[in-house]
Amino acid sequence: MNHISDRRTFAIISHPDAGKTTLTEKLLLFGGAIHLAGEVKARGAARRARSDWMKIEQQRGISVTSSVMTFERQGVTFNLLDTPGHEDFSEDTYRTLTAVDSAVMVIDVAKGIESQTRKLFEVCRLRNVPIITFVNKVDREGREVFAILDEVAELLQLEVTPMTWPMGTGSDFEGVFDLATNRLMLPEGPSREFQGKVIQTTGVDDPQLDAIISARNLTKVREEVELAQVGYPEFDAEAYRRGDLTPVYFGSALKEFGVDSLIEALASFAPPPRAQPAEPAPVEPTRDEVTGFVFKVQANMDPNHRDRIAFMRLCSGTFKRGMKLTPTGHGKPIAIHSPILFFAQQRELADEAYPGDIIGIPNHGTLRVGDTLSERATVRFTGLPNFAPEILRRVALKDPTKTKQLRKALDDMAEEGVTQVFYPEIGSNWIIGVVGQLQLEVLLSRLDAEYKVAAGLEMAPFETARWVSADDPADLKAFTDLNRSAMAKDRDGNPVFLAKSAWEVGYIADRYAKVTFAATRER
Ligand code: GDP
Repeated sequence: MNHISDRRTFAIISHPDAGKTTLTEKLLLFGGAIHLAGEVKARGAARRARSDWMKIEQQRGISVTSSVMTFERQGVTFNLLDTPGHEDFSEDTYRTLTAVDSAVMVIDVAKGIESQTRKLFEVCRLRNVPIITFVNKVDREGREVFAILDEVAELLQLEVTPMTWPMGTGSDFEGVFDLATNRLMLPEGPSREFQGKVIQTTGVDDPQLDAIISARNLTKVREEVELAQVGYPEFDAEAYRRGDLTPVYFGSALKEFGVDSLIEALASFAPPPRAQPAEPAPVEPTRDEVTGFVFKVQANMDPNHRDRIAFMRLCSGTFKRGMKLTPTGHGKPIAIHSPILFFAQQRELADEAYPGDIIGIPNHGTLRVGDTLSERATVRFTGLPNFAPEILRRVALKDPTKTKQLRKALDDMAEEGVTQVFYPEIGSNWIIGVVGQLQLEVLLSRLDAEYKVAAGLEMAPFETARWVSADDPADLKAFTDLNRSAMAKDRDGNPVFLAKSAWEVGYIADRYAKVTFAATRER
């Protein structure tokens, strides 16, 4: 088997508490990377407890390992990229999705699609990232199967195909039926877990089920499955890969139902590394030149040492340790002597990596989010966006003689992708924008530790921002002239409209039809 077709690079998107950590742990367990599984758990607990910079930094030390988790199963190598949630939620979470070929969307059977799932889904849609849906916690009381399927279809505008069906939920839960193979997975023991007990049937109408499943559940499931066969399209792998259809698996990460089917689905349907958008032309994974892009930069534990780890997704070629790669735009090739490759059991120094793999490159701040690295410097990857911030704050400098240092720090961090900075057209109150609360703490700590700038953050009269543009410069000018008090420039001088609310964005966008209000901007 070649190393491209056997790679699956994916992420899990979900709302906090839907079960991402539990599912991750089970995937690693099933994939044989057992001792990593405990680490994932520890991390889940730790990340809720920590509050100060030291803890953030300790966390960072660990999360270098858990940023990328690799496991193997039946000859397929899975690279699972972590999308930090909870208070870790940041632009990194979004950008990680630009480095994957597919995603698993985990939803709680009782809660359906929640806000963070939806935001992450929208980012997947930007790049047509195909999605497998895992409806978790069927061992608990939840919504009706149809209600969940229809919510996914309606809210996300996706075709849905149920692939498995729960035999009851909550206290009535009696197993999961696989509609493709007609196999029934059954709970065992007092904990009602899946321990491998499987019955092969000829379908939900198979009479042998009458002796196993309660009449109440069975009658209902038989009726529902019949309706579902008429009501939902058959699974179509092409439609899935285009991002138009999502196969839906019901299961319980905690009780291990459906985890196996999910891995099978990833192995059979999820796309291997695909061509990546680039200039002058998309880069095929089969290209012999080594190319990749940086989607995340992580600061080191010790704030006095400016070394960073740049996470690069390999897009083509066979990477070998010691290889020289040139970052586009900076000119000089750099030799990559001590790359971090993430393999099944542990973080280790490996010698080779293939398209779809992630490489951690230690550096001293030379590598930035969005950088392309390649052997011959002939391509530049595109489409790595900035996302509209969801939290805006005014930066209040405590010592006015430090204005220059502050500007340098804010520009640096914007370039690294930690925070975004906006310089208002009127007044001198610089505004920073983030998508997650934790980034604000990181910003203040780093201003203090690295730039020796004491600053505070104040509420800003704005809630979100949009990059504005228009085909005709006169239209843009007319808009900015009338809205000067809400206009700012980003680090690169692009015009940005600062809005008081998402509602205002909609209202203004309706009034200025010739102006485009973008929630993302390519770096
Ligand atoms: P995350 O925030 O998405 O990473 O969610 P976690 O994996 O930490 O799970 C949140 C809570 O839901 C934990 O208490 C888990 O034990 C629980 N949980 C996760 N999966 C299941 C499941 O399939 N069934 C039940 N009953 N509980 C689950």
